[in-house]
Amino acid sequence: MASFSVHFLGCKVSHVDAHEVRERLLADGHVETEGGADVAVVNTCCVTHEALSKSRKQAARAARTHRMVYVTGCGAGDVGAIGCVQADARLDRVRAFVKVQDGCSFSCNFCVIPLVRGASRSRAADAVLAEIGRRVAQGHREVVLTGINLGCYRDRAAGYDLPRLVREAGATPGLQRLRLSSIEINHVNDALIDALRDTATVSRHLHVPLQSGDDEVLRAMGRRYTVATYLRRLAPLQEDFNLTSDVIVGFPAEGERAFATTLDTVRAAGLTKVHVFPYSPRPGTVTAQDDPVSPQEKRERGARLRAASHEACLAHWRTKIGRDDLVLVDRPGRGYGDDYSPWLVDESRPVGVLVPVRGAAVSDEGVLAA
Ligand code: SF4
Repeated sequence: MASFSVHFLGCKVSHVDAHEVRERLLADGHVETEGGADVAVVNTCCVTHEALSKSRKQAARAARTHRMVYVTGCGAGDVGAIGCVQADARLDRVRAFVKVQDGCSFSCNFCVIPLVRGASRSRAADAVLAEIGRRVAQGHREVVLTGINLGCYRDRAAGYDLPRLVREAGATPGLQRLRLSSIEINHVNDALIDALRDTATVSRHLHVPLQSGDDEVLRAMGRRYTVATYLRRLAPLQEDFNLTSDVIVGFPAEGERAFATTLDTVRAAGLTKVHVFPYSPRPGTVTAQDDPVSPQEKRERGARLRAASHEACLAHWRTKIGRDDLVLVDRPGRGYGDDYSPWLVDESRPVGVLVPVRGAAVSDEGVLAA
């Protein structure tokens, strides 16, 4: 029997993978500790140069407080024999991330994920639905369906695609809220939109990576859509869904004009929170040798995009003043409303409970509950 701690960097899939390791170690009788331990497991990320560098630092830090460090995940090959972390992987008491799909068969020119995770493959629907049932029985109020390219989900033998999985997952007895971690715009179609709207537990939130809002840059990225397609497919959701996204700034083909077009697209799409990633070339990708935009320009564009995103968030949050919502409290004094907007609630509200609130004002961090 050994003492251990498990950590992860990166996306929700990395989070889920770290959880799986943790649960396996606990099932085998090992003991989880907070400080130093016999063994540290660090599930790494290599999606950007910065993520890899953080993974390396985490590994080094873990090596100072543990006898042994196992480095796993997408960045394992680059981090080497030691590792360190951004977050710990103890089970979130409020929401459970359930992995339904892994890998990606798209081939965006900047992306290293298909090289490290392989082609898309899906879990059997009955295994996914059974896990959701278990998570709800454990007390999780919210389930997040998670994958690298979630819209590719298929269980052909049982006749499931993502819309059917959403409908059935959302009907799990006792489940209060269901969300999708992220979905490519190519997969936002009528069948999915109907499933989202028809399922009462589904949160009115969708995270749809844009990456660039300029057609030439999208082409150079090897993305499979145009700006017009992105806008057209999101249009039916603009009214009642909170739409969030990822954008890369400083991609090799992105000049100042293309960046300005991206800002316009972000506004036209009605996006609120935009996660901004400065471009960094990843080994083995089509654009591995290209990085002409200076770090200074990337920083400036990133700051402008973050400012625009913050303004859009504030405007969206203001629409909640005087209106009712249900907030799932996930930390003392904080939680998320039905469309995944952040709320600040009274600290006395119990964590893990859905509480009725009314918007009173907004702050830089979210909607203030009356
Ligand atoms: S869709 Fe593109 S960016 Fe997303 S994981 Fe696949 S290759 Fe990478």
